[in-house]
Amino acid sequence: MKILVTGGTGYIGSHTCVELLNEGYEVVIIDNLYNSKIETVDYIEKITGKKVKFYKDDCCDKEALRKIFKENKIDAVIHFAGYKAVGESVKLPLNYYHNNLGSAIILCEVMKEFNCKNIIFSSSATVYGNSKRVPFKETYKLSTTNPYGTTKMFIERILTDLHISDEDWNVVLLRYFNPIGAHPSGLIGEDPNGIPNNLMPYVVKVATGELECLSIFGNDYPTKDGTGVRDYIHVVDLAVGHVKALEKIQKDNGLFIYNLGTGEGYSVLDIVNTFERVNKVKVNHKFAPRRKGDIATCLADPSKAEKELNFKATRTLEEMCRDAYNYAVKNR
Ligand code: NAD
Ligand code: UDP
Repeated sequence: MKILVTGGTGYIGSHTCVELLNEGYEVVIIDNLYNSKIETVDYIEKITGKKVKFYKDDCCDKEALRKIFKENKIDAVIHFAGYKAVGESVKLPLNYYHNNLGSAIILCEVMKEFNCKNIIFSSSATVYGNSKRVPFKETYKLSTTNPYGTTKMFIERILTDLHISDEDWNVVLLRYFNPIGAHPSGLIGEDPNGIPNNLMPYVVKVATGELECLSIFGNDYPTKDGTGVRDYIHVVDLAVGHVKALEKIQKDNGLFIYNLGTGEGYSVLDIVNTFERVNKVKVNHKFAPRRKGDIATCLADPSKAEKELNFKATRTLEEMCRDAYNYAVKNR
C-alpha cells in the first residue's frame, strides 16, 4: 500500500514514516517545511534503509495535491500537516483556521476526486476541553478553549460528515495525549524554533544549558504534588498507533475514534526528577504561577484502542526522557 503522509517531515509524521516503512508500506510525503527540515527525509531513509518520495508543497495548494495523486496511486492518507501552537492560535486565529481547516478540506476534495477514501487524522486530547472527569473517554462531549483546539474539533466534524455523506469513506480520528521522546537513533526528534511552549522541549533546553531555568506553572493543583499531571506517550509508540489504525481500516469499514495515550499520569515534578535521574543532568527549576487555560489533570482512557486496535503503548517514562535527551545532545 502507498500512503501519503502530510506533514511527514514533522515531529510525529517523521516517526510514523519510519514505522510505516518498517512495516513494508510505501511512503509519499508532502510538507511545506514550515516547521521541519528537508534533512529529515534522509534520516528517515537512513533509519529504515528504504526510500521515500518527498514533495515540498503546501496542502492548501490543490494543484500540487492533484499532481501528487496523479503521479502516485495513493491508497490512504495520514494527515499530520497543520499549525499546533496553542498560544499562537489565540493571537493569530485566522492563520490557524486557514491553514488547518483549509488544508483538511482541500485534501479531502482531492482525495474524493481520485477516489481515495481512507484517511487517518491527527486530533488531540485538547478536544476534551476543560473536562474534569478523568480519564477521558472517546464518548465524552467535546469542547475547546482556543482556536487550535477548535480547528481539531471542526476537522473531526468535517470528516464525520464526510463519512455520513458517503460510507465508503473510512476515517480514523486519533486523539493524541502528550507525545514526547525521540527515535532511539537520535536522528529524528522534536526541535522547536525559539523558546519552547511544551514541557519536555523546555526541560531538554535547560539540561543542555540553552535555557537557564524551567518555570513550573503551578504547584497548587489538586494533584499528588500540586503540579500538573499529563499522559505522556513515547512518540515511537504513537507512530505505531498509526500503523494499527491503518490495519483497522483495511479490515473494517467505518468511522473510528481512538485516544492514543498510556493511561498513566505523571506530574511536572515526575518529569523533572526522572529526566535528571536517567540522564544524570541537572534541570534547574522554580515554581511559577499557573499558566492560563491549563487543567490540573489530562489523562486518556486508552482501553478502546487496546481492544479494537490491539494497541498498547509500551515505552516507559525513562525511555521517553533518555531518548529526548539523546536526540538533543546529538543535534546541538
Ligand atoms: P510538526 O509541526 O512537527 O509537524 C507538522 C508538519 O506539517 C511540519 O513539518 C510542517 O512543516 C507541516 N505543515 C504545516 N502546515 C502545512 C501545510 N499547509 N502544508 C504542508 N505542510 C504543512 O507537528 P507535530 O508535533 O508532528 O504534530 C503533527 C500533528 O499532530 C499536527 O496536526 C498536530 O496538531 C497534531 N498533534 C500534535 C501534538 C503534539 O504534542 N505534538 C498533540 C496532539 C496533536
Ligand atoms: N509546563 C510547565 N512549564 C513549562 C511548560 C509546561 O510547568 O515551561 C507544565 C504545564 O503547565 C502542564 C505540563 O507541563 O502541566 C505539560 O504542558 P505541555 O505544554 O507540554 O502540554 P499540555 O499542557 O498541552 O498538555
